[in-house]
Amino acid sequence: MTSQSKVKIAIIGAGPVGSLCACFMAEYGYDVTIFESRTDIRLMQTTTGRSINLALSERGIKALQFVGLDNILIEELTEPMHGRMIHSTDGHNYSIPYDIFKKKCLYSISRKELNGVLLTKLEKYPNVKLNFSYKLVDIDFSSKKLTFQTVENQQVIILPDIVFGCDGAHSIVRQHMIRLPMFNYSQSYINHGYFEINLPNTKENVLTPGHLHIWPRGTFMLIALPNKDSFWTCTLFMPMDKFPLILESGKEEILSFFNKHFKDFVNLIDPENLIRQVISGKARTLISIKCNPYHVNDSFLLMGDAAHAIVPFYGQGMNAGFEDCTILNQLLNEYDHDLKTVLRMFSLRRIEDAEAISDLALYNYIEMRDLVTRKSFLWRKKIDKI
Ligand code: FAD
Repeated sequence: MTSQSKVKIAIIGAGPVGSLCACFMAEYGYDVTIFESRTDIRLMQTTTGRSINLALSERGIKALQFVGLDNILIEELTEPMHGRMIHSTDGHNYSIPYDIFKKKCLYSISRKELNGVLLTKLEKYPNVKLNFSYKLVDIDFSSKKLTFQTVENQQVIILPDIVFGCDGAHSIVRQHMIRLPMFNYSQSYINHGYFEINLPNTKENVLTPGHLHIWPRGTFMLIALPNKDSFWTCTLFMPMDKFPLILESGKEEILSFFNKHFKDFVNLIDPENLIRQVISGKARTLISIKCNPYHVNDSFLLMGDAAHAIVPFYGQGMNAGFEDCTILNQLLNEYDHDLKTVLRMFSLRRIEDAEAISDLALYNYIEMRDLVTRKSFLWRKKIDKI
């Protein structure tokens, strides 16, 4: 029995970051238990409230490498995106490659499948227990007492040694930390929100593969990411107060809005399907969260969106959460699994970079919806190529 196997780790949240963090800790032999408030994502028909697919990038792939999942995920479950395809208002399209030298690219992957692969991997570790429908409702930091509510309305209390709060942007772990002295926290909703539309990829109507498609329209934009099972997930980002003008309008107004701004997109989708999706859809908000520190005492640590939720325009929220696992891993090795030091050092090493990516994500929205169409931007891209 290793000394790690005696340490009881509780991970709150079996989203992508909680699941990957659990794999990392399981690899080292820790006694890991995950608590997830929802049912098993693999059994769900739809994953409501979040994007259907995600762009997986280099920093995410590096973390997946450690648990041996990078190749299988990339080869079997992703669609590569080598560049942006810009759809101009005049119907003219052009491609801007992401990396003309090393040919690195982004990979589009289904949130459900990625999360499912991580959970299936977790089930194979003898030192991991998965608990679904366990909602964390209370924390006592001094005694490390966690209280959960089950679907049967029962209360379950556990006393772990270490707690990783990977419970997302509206983290209950973080909400409890806010009451502690010297814990700094800020959140801001941006004025823009999003709305998703599925675009079937029929034989007649296809978007150019290998790209993230963007219809930049100044104050708003439509994007499309490919899916493995031949449909595209399209997301309309725009100011929240403009959504009701479209989502709550009549069929003709909906079609006229899409025809006016995204004519070539309308040509790809059955108008009745588009109208049905718009009428039954709901605009969702986007939040940016910063806090400092990420740890409390020698036993609680926030990771992923719970620590640093960012807006999605850089496609880096989950990737940054995966990178948290890489940093945790580095620190475990550097400090020989002295978890007290590892947790403290995680805050010191991670916060500055996480805040930088948060700011870059906000900036990238302006670039994607507006600057990408400006002459100066295109000119700069040409210079970069030379
Ligand atoms: P989450 O995915 O939110 O998972 C948290 C888990 O904790 C959930 O399963 C939840 O049920 C559980 N939980 C919550 N409360 C409790 C509780 N009290 N008790 C127990 N369990 C609880 N990122 C990218 O890298 N690339 C992209 O292309 C990208 N696109 C995006 C597009 C959109 C529109 C949005 C909104 C986000 C996008 N992101 C993207 C960001 C990405 O979705 C998040 O960064 C990622 O999901 C964070 O993972 P997480 O595990 O930290 O949190």
